Parts: sequence; structure tokens; C-alpha cells
Amino acid sequence: MRKFIHVDMDAFFVSVEIRDQPELADKPVAVGGRSRQRGVLSTCNYIARQFGLHSAMPTAIAIRKCPNLIVVPGRMSVYKEVSEQIREIFKRYTDLIEPLSLDEAYLDVTDSDNCQGSATLIAKEIRQAIFEETQLTASAGIAPLKFIAKIASDMNKPNGQFVVTPENIDEFISELPLNKIPGVGKVTYEKLTTIGWLKGADIKRLPEHEVVHRFGKFGSSLWKKCQGIDYRGVNTSRIRKSVGVERTFSQNMTTYNELESYMLDTLMPELLRRAEKYVKDNQIDKLGVKVKFQDFQQTTKEQKHSKMDETIFKELLYQAISRGNGKEVRLLGIHVGLNHSQINESQMTFDLH
Ligand SMILES: [Mg+2]
Repeated sequence: MRKFIHVDMDAFFVSVEIRDQPELADKPVAVGGRSRQRGVLSTCNYIARQFGLHSAMPTAIAIRKCPNLIVVPGRMSVYKEVSEQIREIFKRYTDLIEPLSLDEAYLDVTDSDNCQGSATLIAKEIRQAIFEETQLTASAGIAPLKFIAKIASDMNKPNGQFVVTPENIDEFISELPLNKIPGVGKVTYEKLTTIGWLKGADIKRLPEHEVVHRFGKFGSSLWKKCQGIDYRGVNTSRIRKSVGVERTFSQNMTTYNELESYMLDTLMPELLRRAEKYVKDNQIDKLGVKVKFQDFQQTTKEQKHSKMDETIFKELLYQAISRGNGKEVRLLGIHVGLNHSQINESQMTFDLH
């Protein structure tokens, strides 16, 4: 059986805002449109949720329910940056990552040898690293099936995780209220309850055609889920054009020497580890360095080369830094470009269908 982790940031946008404006921490806060006519909430914190607020609620209604609500506008560039930071952390554990949105992803860690292969411990470490490097919390679900991992990440939210092992998956599904299953919305759930189908066990014991008869194609997928059938692997889909490693610093770096030693001592060994198989297959065709400055301006310098080479990385770093005219650096990354004449990503994933 495979081992999936579904990682989901807690109240993502609004948590980023509260991190950056700590004076908001004990107040009801939402990110969204502030117009009373057209505004809609995109995320709200847990305090605001106690007033019955939720995403997609019109701002006007939200303020009626919770007059002290503070609505802050979203900052997409910051959320994207955090999302990349998180992705970087995932990559330390597996290449098989399927992002679902900026703040959510499936990981397949079946073949990861981190933490003696324990997906539970990997999830813990990932959440810990996310907290240390972004000051934000995440929840995780661990399970042998994708859809169960997703349900599980919600069970101990916020800042928690929940494991469903292969041994207890049958029982977990039997007891599962059907509205927890992805795709079962309010209307479907009402229809299900009218028939008297409330939890997994109620559907599990039926022949498939009976569920299909009432719910069509969706019924078939629901029936399969209740049997514990979900063959999907993580869908990494795109062809890998590069392998890289990057880090956003908690404190900006200011000198070339500082950046150079960070690149050589921390980033290079990690890149060597991640790119090992491409080195063996002679697939590397260029080297690159990426720098993001304090004002979010970003620059990448690349050079054609077929091997990892310290001297070239140093030179690229120097050129990239020079473009900043003395600006401080908030992110540094190095990567190797891959030439794809022989192998593509689909041969390296573990899709079961
Ligand atoms: Mg989330």
C-alpha cells in the first residue's frame, strides 16, 4: 500500500496577515474584499469562524454577524512566496508532490527513506519545518489512500495531524459520515440522508448498481470510495525541466561572502542529493542561480554546463547579486536544468493506472 500525506495550511491567507501584523492576533480577522456592496471574504481566522463566518461569505453579511470584524485586503505575492517555501520543504522528503492550491498538497512518501520511512514522523517533521521557517501552522492527514488523507487532515485541525493506517482503514470508512467525503455537498448529503444512508458502512454493504441507480456516475465513485478503492497516485503531471533547492531567509543576507558560504555549505549538498539520479543519467544541461531581493525583485542567472560545478555557481551568484546594486537578499536558490531527450517525468512517477 502507498503512503500519502495531505498537508493543508491552517486558515492560510489570514494566518499570513496575522503573522505580519501580530496586533491582529486576538481579534476576528478576515482576508477579502472590503467593499460593503461587492466584497466577499476569502478566508477568516478561527475567532471569526465562531461568529459563523466562512469563506465566500459577502463582507456585508459578515460585518452584520460580527461587527468588530477586521477585513484586510489580500497580498497574493506574499502568499505565493510562502507557498513556494512550503513546496521547498516538501521536496526535502519526496519528488512526488501534487499541489491542489497555494496552501494544500498531496505527497506520496512511500519510497521516502526519511524518518525510517514513517509517514507519520515525516508529516510531523514537515509541519515542524513549516512552522520554523514560515511561523505558520499546517495540519496533515496520513493514509494509504488519497481521499482518506484529505479527510484526515481535517480531523485535528488546526495545527494537528491524524493517521489512518492500513489496519484501521476499513473501520474508519465504515464510521465515516458521508458528508466528509470529497464531492458530497449539501444537496447530495440531504438526498443520501433521506434514503437513510448516513455513513460509509451504509453504502459499503450495498451492491454497486444500487448506488449507481440513484446517483449515476457519482454513485459509482462514492461506492468505490466506501469500499476503500482509490487507485490514484499523486499527479505531478508536468515534465520536470529542472531540479533545484532554494531558501527564504528569516533574516535578509547582506554580503556576498555570507551568501556564498550558504550556497556552498547548505544548498549545494542538498541539490547534489536531489539531483543525483539526473547526474547519473547525464541529463544536466545547465546550472542556475536565483536571487530575490528585499524588494521582491527577482533575478536568475544561468549557464550551459553538463555537470555540477562550484566555480560556475559562484560566478553566477556574483552576477546575480550584482544586479541588486547592494540590495539585501531574502531568497537564494540554485538549480540544474535538465535535458529531456531520454527520460520524462511520467516514467518516474508511480501512478497506478
Ligand atoms: Mg488550508
